[in-house]
Amino acid sequence: MGTFIIFIIGTIFGSFYNVIICRLPYGESIVTPSSKCPQCNTKIKWYDNIPIISYLILKGKCRNCNASISVQYPLIELTTGLFTFFLYKMYGFDINFFKYFVLLSILLCAGVIDFKTALDDNFETGIIPNELSLGGFLPGFIFALIEKRIIVSLVGAAVGFLLLFLPGFIYKLLTGKEGMGGGDIKLFAMIGSFLGFKPLFFILFASSLLGAVVGVIFIAISKNKDYPIPFGPFIGLATFIYIFFGNTLINAYLKILTA
Ligand SMILES: [Zn+2]
Repeated sequence: MGTFIIFIIGTIFGSFYNVIICRLPYGESIVTPSSKCPQCNTKIKWYDNIPIISYLILKGKCRNCNASISVQYPLIELTTGLFTFFLYKMYGFDINFFKYFVLLSILLCAGVIDFKTALDDNFETGIIPNELSLGGFLPGFIFALIEKRIIVSLVGAAVGFLLLFLPGFIYKLLTGKEGMGGGDIKLFAMIGSFLGFKPLFFILFASSLLGAVVGVIFIAISKNKDYPIPFGPFIGLATFIYIFFGNTLINAYLKILTA
């Protein structure tokens, strides 16, 4: 029962992340006003705003105008509930729980915003708001201070910056074209401030691999070679994989090497 409450609390945070995802890229306040149906502008009542449950009860439609509600809402709530739950299972209320909870929350919002703005004609490419990427350095460094590993954190941020900045810089020198987006570079450096530099190699490798696989599939299906596939979601996904399965994967890899 106790751990189920952790899941519920996670979904409530997820509800707030939906607000951030929908408003931050447009420069709207994430505090006021309360949520409205984007179709009919009716204020959403508290009992229609219960994470996951309300979506199911309303069958994904606005109570007032029947406009469909994006499946993003329950998905973000469920995802946040699940990672909160599993972090608690792994760490209890240890500092690692809070550190990874904050990092995964930032990456979830940043990844979904990058994905959505890439599809949105109001934006040229996907964006990652500075509030999330640069803003994330603050909790990153605070956790490092608490854990007395500030040097590791600063080196992590620097290595994170260089790992993504240098390839893009060289690419630009050679081709004159923009390589890696600035938002991705800041996001990656921010992850380094939380995790130090060692995990960054795994995360970069996994995100590039995921991005390449999805990119090839996307081009094969859509025949569109020019669509700029955002990298932020893959950086986020790779960090999720690192936090939950990193040790397992790295140990399995080392076993193969030494077999
Ligand atoms: Zn409505």
